[in-house]
Amino acid sequence: MLYSSPNFDDRTSPIWMVLLHYTGMSSGAAALARLCDPAAKVSAHYLIDLDGTVHQLVAEEKRAWHAGVSSWSGERDINSCAMGIELVNKGHDAPEYGYHGDYHHFTDAQMTALIPLLQTLKSRYDIEDRFILAHSDVAPARRKDPGEKFDWSRLAAEGVGLWPDVVSAQGPSLRPGESGPAVEDLQRKLAAFGYGLRVSGFYDDTTEAVVTAFQRHFVPDQMTGIAAALTQARLEQLLDLAGIEQ
Ligand SMILES: [Zn+2]
Repeated sequence: MLYSSPNFDDRTSPIWMVLLHYTGMSSGAAALARLCDPAAKVSAHYLIDLDGTVHQLVAEEKRAWHAGVSSWSGERDINSCAMGIELVNKGHDAPEYGYHGDYHHFTDAQMTALIPLLQTLKSRYDIEDRFILAHSDVAPARRKDPGEKFDWSRLAAEGVGLWPDVVSAQGPSLRPGESGPAVEDLQRKLAAFGYGLRVSGFYDDTTEAVVTAFQRHFVPDQMTGIAAALTQARLEQLLDLAGIEQ
C-alpha cells in the first residue's frame, strides 16, 4: 500500500541534516496512520518498518514536520534543513507522548534498509557526517529517540555519521551542580559541536540533559548525565573528526 502525508509545507533553507527518530507507537501501521493524519500535524520523509520496508511519506524537497521545538548549531527551524526518517520501535516509556514503552533494539532489516538510504541522501545533498543526528540531539530536554539502542557505530562503519572510538580515558568527572572553568569548557565544546545550551560555567539541568543526549548517541554504555573522562574524551575526538576548531 502506498502512503502519503499531507503534513508538510515549503522549506526555507537548503537541506544539510538528517534526523533519525523512532515512532514510539505499537506498530508500523499505527505510526503510518498517525503520520498521514492531517489532524496530527506530524510527518517524516521516510518510515522504515520492522521488516525493512521503506515508505516515503513526504517528497524530499518539502518540509516535513518531525523535529518540533529544537536547535542545532544555532539553527532553530530544523524541519527546513533536515530530512526526517522514522524507524518503527515502541520506544521508551513516555506516557506524556502516548508512547507505548517497550523499547527494543532496531531490527537488522531496518538497519539494512536505512544504511543505503542514508548513503544516498548524504551524497545527493552533500550532507556532512556530523549532521547525521538523533532527534534527542536537537531536543535533549524533550526527546530520547532513536535512543541508546540505535547502532550509530554500524552507520559510521558504513560511511554515514560520526563515531568516536576512544574506549578509555582518565581524569576527573564533571557533575550536575558543579561550576567553574572546567564546566564552562565542557559547555563550550558541546555548543561547538552543535548542542543548544548556554555557556554559563554552571552544570545546570540543561547541561545535564545535553550531556545525557550526547551519551545516548555517543557513549551509550555510560548514560549517566555525569561527564566522566570517557564522555569528555569522546567529545574531544568528535570535534576533531568534525573538523571543528576549538
Ligand atoms: Zn522523534
